Amino acid sequence: MTAIDSGLDGAFYLELLRAYFDSANDAIFVLCDERKFLVCNRITQDWLGASEADLTRHNFRLPITQFLHAAADRQCFEQAFEAALTAGPQRFECHIATPMRGLLRVEMNISRVDVAVGDMVIVVARDVSRLHEQQVALQHQAMHDTLTGLPNRQFLQQRLEQAIAQARRDGQTLALITLDLDRFKDINNTLGHDIGDRMLMQVALRLRGLAGDTALVAREGGDEFAVLIANATQVHAQQMARRILTAMERPFEVELNDGAAPQAFTLGATIGIAMFPEHGGDVRSLIQRADVAMYQAKRLNNGLAFYAPGQDQHTSDRLGLLGELRRAIAENELVLHYQPVIDIASRRLVAVEALVRWNHPSRGLLGPDNFVPLAEHTGVIRALDRWVIHAAVRRSKDWAAQGLPLVVSVNLSVGSLHDTQIAPWLIDLLRANTVTPQHLQVEVTESAMMVEPTRAIDVLTQLADRGVSIAVDDFGTGYSSLAYLKRLPLHKIKIDKSFVINMSESDDDTTIVHSTIELAHNLNFGVVAEGVETAQSWALLKALRCDAAQGWHIAKAMPAEQLVPWLKASDWKS
Ligand code: C2E
Ligand code: CA
Ligand code: CA
Repeated sequence: MTAIDSGLDGAFYLELLRAYFDSANDAIFVLCDERKFLVCNRITQDWLGASEADLTRHNFRLPITQFLHAAADRQCFEQAFEAALTAGPQRFECHIATPMRGLLRVEMNISRVDVAVGDMVIVVARDVSRLHEQQVALQHQAMHDTLTGLPNRQFLQQRLEQAIAQARRDGQTLALITLDLDRFKDINNTLGHDIGDRMLMQVALRLRGLAGDTALVAREGGDEFAVLIANATQVHAQQMARRILTAMERPFEVELNDGAAPQAFTLGATIGIAMFPEHGGDVRSLIQRADVAMYQAKRLNNGLAFYAPGQDQHTSDRLGLLGELRRAIAENELVLHYQPVIDIASRRLVAVEALVRWNHPSRGLLGPDNFVPLAEHTGVIRALDRWVIHAAVRRSKDWAAQGLPLVVSVNLSVGSLHDTQIAPWLIDLLRANTVTPQHLQVEVTESAMMVEPTRAIDVLTQLADRGVSIAVDDFGTGYSSLAYLKRLPLHKIKIDKSFVINMSESDDDTTIVHSTIELAHNLNFGVVAEGVETAQSWALLKALRCDAAQGWHIAKAMPAEQLVPWLKASDWKS
């Protein structure tokens, strides 16, 4: 049926078209070659706050460019306009300043209208402001750490890339600082993630305050942060690093419970710095080398370090080592050395602590600091601890057979404490070797116990129920509460060597050692002092009624075969 047949005329179709035009959600308008409005729909009028009559009034026509405020937007529009006339439809995004709705981000589609009277285009402009905001928010989310709001690792890498390009162009240097908080993991494990999170937010605030507008602060993950300083010399970088270290040493205050008085904790930090171009010419090597420097600073315990060639060797060594460690365990390259523990009152040898070493085929004898932390980070620690316990139990059996019934003490890492099979496995092992559980002691640090306290209580109770004795290792360095210690089946406390070593010079350390001994005795625990290096320490510990001592004053750790000869040659009693 045609319009004529149905009695509807052309005017009707024009009306229909107009209704459709005005009901569109996009602004649609036709512009003449002077970029002035010829026709526009209702949305266009809403946006621009003017009627169609006003916008198109013959002697008062406004060009669209009046509403494009930014020079870049105007330029973009001009190019698209020309291209639409000559090359076909164009699409681009720009901002329109509207009196009624403010600045809108619009997607414009411009097409030429083919008429004889001159150049004319039809524009369909869609408001994409919300969409754009969402995109920006998403992008922000992808590029920022949700907890602290700081740029994340990805953002840092992007910025670093830009900064490197610019520095290369302008012949400048730049600094990348990596920092790792020293005591964060302990606090996080002990006080809970809520408190940990609040501290991280405070750390972020302090770092941002220091960096101001001159540097970019990012959170690389966990308790690692980075600061990127463009156009910086080594001197600048070092000044900034020092300021950061000072800021991190200042106590952080958190309320442990709602409404409770805030408590102060210090975190401390270790910093590694890599400079462009001196230490690396691209993003990857700079980040990696700042990390290498940070590990170096940790190892030397000196707060901050610049990258120095040769340190990598150390890092790649570590990675290489890790690969070899599994094999080494399987092929028995590990060996145990034993360090005597002497009962102070009777001067008798009462126990030995098994300390692992790696008899590496090309590197020689490696101490545990070279591979135990590495193993702890990767889960290899479970196999390592089992190997150690196995070897120690067999050795204990040998000594018992020689008439030397010693307690052998082994270290249990947090990874092993979370091994659900460790307790039954250990009990079976003792039975199979006919070693009485009283001859085995397990040492666990306070912080290891605090990672998952209920798990720790479970494993340690299973062992203690069978007669294995349990010692808290490195006591004084963690944050465990008395109430918590009371819930554990503990027998001994080993005072950390850092307090014992300095005792004769430091009154503070003496006080700590003294009160630890009192505390342990009140709870019916035995006390072992580690790190007894001098006769003065020994005498002081004796006066403080400490039960047992371990340290270089007595003997360093030694291979198993040397223990009996050493005992015979010394004036300690068996
Ligand atoms: P730790 O359990 O605190 O062991 C005591 C460390 O202090 C040993 O270092 C020992 O050689 C050292 N030491 C002993 N007396 C003195 C002294 O008078 N002065 C000083 N300055 N140091 C002294 P080592 O053997 O290097 O072990 C370091 C750490 O490695 C151990 O600390 C322990 O945490 C870990 N570790 C050692 N063997 C094992 C193991 O078989 N399994 C696990 N999981 N960790 C182990
Ligand atoms: Ca130990
Ligand atoms: Ca210790």
